[in-house]
Amino acid sequence: GCSMAMAKLELRPLGNTGLKVSSVGFGASPLGSVAEDDAIATVRQAFRLGINFFDTSPYYGGTVSEKMLGKALKALHVPRSDYIVATKCGRYKEEGFNFSAERVRKSVDQSLERLQLDYLDILHCHDIEFGSLDQIVSETIPALQKLKQEGKTRFIGITGLPLSIFTYVLDRVPPGTIDVILSYCHYGINDSTLLDLLPYLKRKGVGVISAAPLSMGLLTEQGPSERHPAPHELKSACKAAVAHCKTKGKKVTKLALQYSLGNKEVSSVLVGMSSVSQVEENVEAVTELEGLGIDEETLCEVEAILEPVKNLTWPSGIEQK
Ligand code: NAD
Repeated sequence: GCSMAMAKLELRPLGNTGLKVSSVGFGASPLGSVAEDDAIATVRQAFRLGINFFDTSPYYGGTVSEKMLGKALKALHVPRSDYIVATKCGRYKEEGFNFSAERVRKSVDQSLERLQLDYLDILHCHDIEFGSLDQIVSETIPALQKLKQEGKTRFIGITGLPLSIFTYVLDRVPPGTIDVILSYCHYGINDSTLLDLLPYLKRKGVGVISAAPLSMGLLTEQGPSERHPAPHELKSACKAAVAHCKTKGKKVTKLALQYSLGNKEVSSVLVGMSSVSQVEENVEAVTELEGLGIDEETLCEVEAILEPVKNLTWPSGIEQK
């Protein structure tokens, strides 16, 4: 194949924003728990290989992810317009959830300081199913629109697990108010329910970011953390799928990431990466997909193993009144 340094990732337009994001985006949540030198090297290699989109949150590592990402981006010594940064508001390690206008206004200033940036490209409301969706519509989004007018963020997004939150909010705000959504764990081999929502999102002109193609570690050899919220049947089926790939000498992470890149209406797939080697492997998976295509045989076998748990998810959020 071609050398890593020559590889350039495909850029995809993100809704109506005018942004062009790399098909694979850098999920910075693991940067909350790696050494500074490793964080800097990981981000540098990602950027060098064509990843221009970086996603973080004040919640990740209790603000450490934002600080690490800020240092790492500064160390690139490239113009600010060469990379796209998304962070979030409303969810915090110590405080829990707070989607009030006052809190999100303070939040964006704190994030800008930690990231050492003058503006954000995207500011998401983080995991809105844990707040009142009516407050998101009537208070949080209007506060974010003001921040947009003030130039603190270029675009506004919402994130969360249940897909119903996106239609609930998008049906209740004027067109063009919300620029993007970030969905996670709904466009991977074990759960592809996000695909059903794509025509609606396209009609609304909303850009689509899909996170966690490895189902937050379920589709990795090392497996998920103890605290992974999936039900037992899903965890054990994924474990069986991972074992099957390993027996065949195939990389499950490669197959899972390649699967998630299959629909171009999804502008960027965010993968959490904590080392240079993970970055290289994941970028190579994309380049290989463009050349050889996906390993259909192994995909069929893995899909058969996961068939009994297909689209099985878990509850998230509070009861909405
Ligand atoms: P993921 O499915 O991307 O899995 C990441 C895990 O897989 C990490 O532990 C990582 O170390 C490992 N990994 C990555 N590449 C690997 C490789 N080649 N080989 C072996 N292991 C590999 O899950 P995630 O990190 O939770 O999600 C990705 C990103 O999406 C997050 O970092 C975050 O930025 C974003 N996200 C946002 C939300 C939200 O807004 N609510 C939710 C989930 C994820």
